[in-house]
Amino acid sequence: MVSKEVSDIKEEVTGKKTEKKIKKKEEKEKKISDLPGIGPTAVQKLEDAGIYDLMGIAVLGAKELSEISGLGEAVARKAIQASRKMMSLGFQTGFEYSQKRIEIKKITTGSQNLNELLGGKGIETKAITEAFGAYGSGKTQLGLTLAVKTQLPHEMGGAEGKAVYIDTEGTFRPERVRQIAKALDLNPEEVLKNIFVARAFNSDHQILLIDKVGEMVKDGEPIRLVVVDSLTAHFRAEFSGRGQLADRQQKLNKYMHNLMKMAEQHNVAVYVTNQVMANPAMMFGDPTTAIGGNIVGHASTYRMYLRRGKKGSRVAKLIDSPNLPDNETMFFIGEKGVCDEV
Ligand code: ADP
Ligand code: MG
Repeated sequence: MVSKEVSDIKEEVTGKKTEKKIKKKEEKEKKISDLPGIGPTAVQKLEDAGIYDLMGIAVLGAKELSEISGLGEAVARKAIQASRKMMSLGFQTGFEYSQKRIEIKKITTGSQNLNELLGGKGIETKAITEAFGAYGSGKTQLGLTLAVKTQLPHEMGGAEGKAVYIDTEGTFRPERVRQIAKALDLNPEEVLKNIFVARAFNSDHQILLIDKVGEMVKDGEPIRLVVVDSLTAHFRAEFSGRGQLADRQQKLNKYMHNLMKMAEQHNVAVYVTNQVMANPAMMFGDPTTAIGGNIVGHASTYRMYLRRGKKGSRVAKLIDSPNLPDNETMFFIGEKGVCDEV
């Protein structure tokens, strides 16, 4: 303790520590608005076009950026150059990459089958896992189960953290959480205390709540899981007109982007539920597609389709995963939440 203080003073005297601190802060907070020549109007236009960060600028050409932002081409070129300088666009070694992967924590779903479908140990931090399916397919049950399992020690498949539950449909049930906790031999009240529940009343509120999670993490809450149940219900209800689809998709796109950013920044697992709609274009098989379509699908790291199976079982099918084969598995919902058998 004492020696640490001495070294602190030393560093302060040499100015080393403050220098380091400032540099770290700068790296963290570089935004589009920090680029030369880019003011609030341009930022707004860029956001409207789905560009929210330096990477989005760095990959553009001067002409393209000029058209999107309304800036002159020379200004645009300078901004692009600055963005490329500000972010290290270079390569990282496989070793560095694997070091980053080590930070990733897994949260068990409660079902070994489902865990294996998702790559081995359940859902991951720094990723978005989406479950879509019909009413009653088990999407909420999985969310509640994860909110409990997150709290378990690593050796039991947890992430030793707390959960945030963003409830848009009013389906969060404390009694059910208590039941799951009891069945797992946990203290139900303690488990409930580690789940922060917020009822999102509309899509704007839902969006704001993500910033709130960031603040909570900064305040020291060890949040490892954010559940958004349902991701799309408000968006679907608020943008129901034919002409509103583009606006809805744009807003959803931005929301997914923010979720991913939060997941990566704070090493949090994000689990979102999504509804299905009838797809009249599909003649055979299951005539349902996820709301939000490709916007949500592309932003989700893992996407699975849930449906009821035989004898009270549930079937989960993995869809378009970058590193796992498309696959199907079976699980159940019991007293202890999602599980392999009841
Ligand atoms: P979704 O969110 O996809 O609409 P849910 O996750 O709410 O669906 O799933 C509801 C189903 O979960 C119920 O129909 C029932 O089969 C099952 N379920 C809910 N609670 C329990 C429980 N305590 N024990 C066993 N199964 C349950
Ligand atoms: Mg539900």
